[in-house]
Amino acid sequence: MINSKMKELGLHSSAIRELFEYGKIRKALIGEKNVFDFSIGNPSVATPEIVDEVLMDLIKNTDSVSLHGYTSASGDADVKKAIVNYLNNKYIADLDEKYLYMTCGAAASLTISLNAIISENDEVIVLAPYFPEYKVFIEKANGKVIIVNPQKETMLPDLDCLYNSINENTKAIIINSPNNPTGIVYDKNLIQKIADILNKKQIEYNHDIYLISDEPYRELIYGDIDYPFVSNYYDNSIICYSFSKSLSLPGERIGYIVLSKKMNDVENVFYAICGAGRSLGFVCAPSLFQKLVARCLGHTSDLTIYEENRNILYNELKSYGYEIIKPDGAFYLFVKALGDDSIKFSEYAKKYELLLVPSDSFGYSGFVRISYCVSKEQIVNSLPQFKKLIENFSREVKHE
Ligand code: PLP
Repeated sequence: MINSKMKELGLHSSAIRELFEYGKIRKALIGEKNVFDFSIGNPSVATPEIVDEVLMDLIKNTDSVSLHGYTSASGDADVKKAIVNYLNNKYIADLDEKYLYMTCGAAASLTISLNAIISENDEVIVLAPYFPEYKVFIEKANGKVIIVNPQKETMLPDLDCLYNSINENTKAIIINSPNNPTGIVYDKNLIQKIADILNKKQIEYNHDIYLISDEPYRELIYGDIDYPFVSNYYDNSIICYSFSKSLSLPGERIGYIVLSKKMNDVENVFYAICGAGRSLGFVCAPSLFQKLVARCLGHTSDLTIYEENRNILYNELKSYGYEIIKPDGAFYLFVKALGDDSIKFSEYAKKYELLLVPSDSFGYSGFVRISYCVSKEQIVNSLPQFKKLIENFSREVKHE
């Protein structure tokens, strides 16, 4: 017998992936340029030049064993030190390389962290709309997912609801800023309020509650907005980072977990992180890319390209009458579905060759997500389709 839950996960891919696969078939049928695929969050901007330079240099000037060999299970000591120094300088933080674990992207960071802290029946709070894999990762770690809905008008976390959702079984909350799918960036006021709630509840229930901060979009912020680094606000913070988006390296699977040095019982929590990494088989993150990212800290792909895409889409779609949450980061627009049924609307948009992900995939209905990490050409060419879509929607849907 096989594990039927795993079979289910393998058999039914996410709605995002299904739409992406549909897009591939459609492109083969009617031509790549005629399909406006906004389904997936695959960075479209090239890696910065420094990535190629460092890669070539490493390949030419490093011996094969140290380049391609096993590193320590938790990562190369020099790499960990470089990352922590960088973070401490940039965010005036107080991290220690002893509590940093190199991983294969944010997905591995999250699943290791959850397995490290969850015991049977523990609850983990996620803030809707949320990245769909959180549910998969939490449940595989034997945790229970508790969904907290946002404030309707702003899509920001509903803090009263968060407060009331925490109970004696709450082990952690996952936050994600800049956010997938809304593009919202949490300000320091909000982070402080979340920290205050968690601190209060830790005292009330007399146990630790972890703040897991999922940060693959940390650098993708447009405009003059400060990024509040969570470990400066809350001691029991677990930061899950990935270079997938900032350096456009999603296929190389590289990132890290870092614990706040002031975390309660931090030594043992870090042992649990190492144990979870070991039991899940996430040890010795890719050696070549560990070395590479250590030399590319502070660099990013050209983010002005995403910003330009955002500005064009946001301004044009608003002018056509779409209701959109104003995004300050990541590369997503969260748009109110016409007719309020996001699944029906996403299906309907296919008539115009627009591939938009229904928000039900993110645990919240009534919206679609547009992933604008695509070429500017695709954005510009899609605009007449978006215009036709909104103009024709009510009339055509009535006659269907
Ligand atoms: N968390 C969020 C919010 C994401 O959007 C993604 C990927 O799109 C991940 C985690 C996983 O990132 P990675 O590719 O680094 O595993």
